[in-house]
Amino acid sequence: MTTHAPTLDWTEILTRGQRGIGLSEAEALALVQLSEEDDLDALFCTADALRRHHKGNAINSCGISNARSGRCPERCNFCSQSAHFDTAAPRYTTKSADVIVDEAKAAFAGGVREFSIVMAGRAITARKDLDVLKEAFGRIRAETGLQTCASLGLMKEAELAELQAAGMQSMHHNLETARSFHANIVETHSYDDEVETVKAAKKLGMYVCSGGIFGMGESWEQRVEMALELRDLDVDSVPINFLDPRPGTPLAGLHELSPVDCLKIIALYRLVLPTKDLIVCGGRQANLKGRQVDLFRAGANGLMLGNYLTTPGADLQEDFAMLESQGLNPARRPTSPTCHPCPRPCAERAPIWPDSPTSRSWARPVDGPAPGPLAGAGGGHRRRGPSPASALPQAHGPGGGAPGWAARGGLLLQRRAGAGPPPRGQGGLAGGRQRIRPSDQREQA
Ligand code: SF4
Repeated sequence: MTTHAPTLDWTEILTRGQRGIGLSEAEALALVQLSEEDDLDALFCTADALRRHHKGNAINSCGISNARSGRCPERCNFCSQSAHFDTAAPRYTTKSADVIVDEAKAAFAGGVREFSIVMAGRAITARKDLDVLKEAFGRIRAETGLQTCASLGLMKEAELAELQAAGMQSMHHNLETARSFHANIVETHSYDDEVETVKAAKKLGMYVCSGGIFGMGESWEQRVEMALELRDLDVDSVPINFLDPRPGTPLAGLHELSPVDCLKIIALYRLVLPTKDLIVCGGRQANLKGRQVDLFRAGANGLMLGNYLTTPGADLQEDFAMLESQGLNPARRPTSPTCHPCPRPCAERAPIWPDSPTSRSWARPVDGPAPGPLAGAGGGHRRRGPSPASALPQAHGPGGGAPGWAARGGLLLQRRAGAGPPPRGQGGLAGGRQRIRPSDQREQA
């Protein structure tokens, strides 16, 4: 990281972001040069303002069923479910529809809003597995108010269409990491395979949830690269996972991210993708530690709740208590079985405790003053360019090696370019192994 922070016009960035226009590539690359001694306060205030402008206080919540675990023929170097690694991940074949539906009902009763069926493997194509999924989706839609989602590997349009007709509303499929780093992480299928799956779901009109895992040795530039890829793909939601390295995998022992790094990644994605849902998933507790409550002020508007695929998550009620303490609305009330996920706010996402004391503490008028600086965010001093604090009054409103949620979704010791992971604190613009996009004006229309 350079010690010379670039000039970023936060007022201009906020104004454009409110219109749905994210950072240019040049701005994003300038942003990631900001260090903890620079203007992270301005960064987080801008990200928070954009979250409030586009999402209000609504928080998306999702839970998962690990419906088939382990023995996966694929080699994704972060994943404890790969058959290539000797890990303690559970191994079992496809659960019955009865078991999956019972898990969905338990998640619904616990207050989760969206439920995803996750199955290990390159792709789910066997008739018996598709039939289990179809029965489960139909019953979950009929018997709960949950939004339905699945993460099933490298799916083709025909199978996805069949599942969509049965009640599958959303598809999750991670790119995992930047194109320029993907081969270091996933050795048995290509980045284009991931992209084709995302495109197939988009073609069907599904709500598509696609993101990746951070802290696998990628550079800050590659974090920007993936954000721009996701913007090009026009995904609806971006799951943000932080590596929680699993014993037995090639990434075991890799700990690259500080809590502030995690918050900065979230803020980067909010500013590049201002209108999209940003859902913090696996590795939240292990990486953010005591800073979890700050992830919303960094721009996230959703959480994976409950357990991850192969590692336990936070206590559900503790997470809801955290949300409520911030006056945030986790949309815990039942939703209509006919309500499809939508990137835009709707009545289903209106605050449910608008008059509670905790709501008032956070749910200030959307044109109101900005929150104070994030503790320890290094903010305030050495500010360059207009501060978003002055702009805000015009604003409107797979834990487990991140195998959670990111079932599709790594050893840097095997990095093909021959370079090791960037030393801690130098993971940004040094390195030189990453592809740099030529354009510096890839603004979202
Ligand atoms: S991430 Fe998915 S495809 Fe890759 S090894 Fe794990 S279960 Fe298999």
